[in-house]
Amino acid sequence: MEKTFIMVKPDGVQRGLIGDVVSRFEKKGYQLVGAKLITVSRDLAEQHYAEHKEKPFFGELVDFITSGPVFAMVWQGQNIIATARQMMGKTNPSDALPGTIRGDYGVNVSMNIVHGSDSPESAEREIALWFEKSELN
Ligand code: ATP
Ligand code: MG
Repeated sequence: MEKTFIMVKPDGVQRGLIGDVVSRFEKKGYQLVGAKLITVSRDLAEQHYAEHKEKPFFGELVDFITSGPVFAMVWQGQNIIATARQMMGKTNPSDALPGTIRGDYGVNVSMNIVHGSDSPESAEREIALWFEKSELN
């Protein structure tokens, strides 16, 4: 069964949105296979966002994701990678539709509440980066 990495970012944790995000995926019928609340090291943040290393916002992105605890999760279900991205909405909350997580709660392109893997390759890489095998059910 397909798995994806979903993370509630520091803004989402601070605003008390973990439960809402978890609830949306549960109600969709997806299965939670791992979860933890962690403060991210700079090293992990830089590895996670390695594809954006050359972007002008990279420093800001790493600062933000290490600014407070995140809620990291692995979810499983049919076609979950693409569907989770639809449930999250567009990267910039001002482009995200109402009914999506970012459309409903996102503030700006940095404070956009959630991360979700964007492809099977990213999902595999991110799950291995964030979780030990023994932490997954
Ligand atoms: P994520 O990877 O967090 O799920 P995404 O895949 O929708 O988001 P990416 O293009 O991978 O978007 O960008 C990663 C993150 O970098 C975004 O979620 C956003 O917080 C931040 N970001 C993207 N573009 C910008 C920008 N122009 N300025 C500031 N931050 C940005
Ligand atoms: Mg991305």
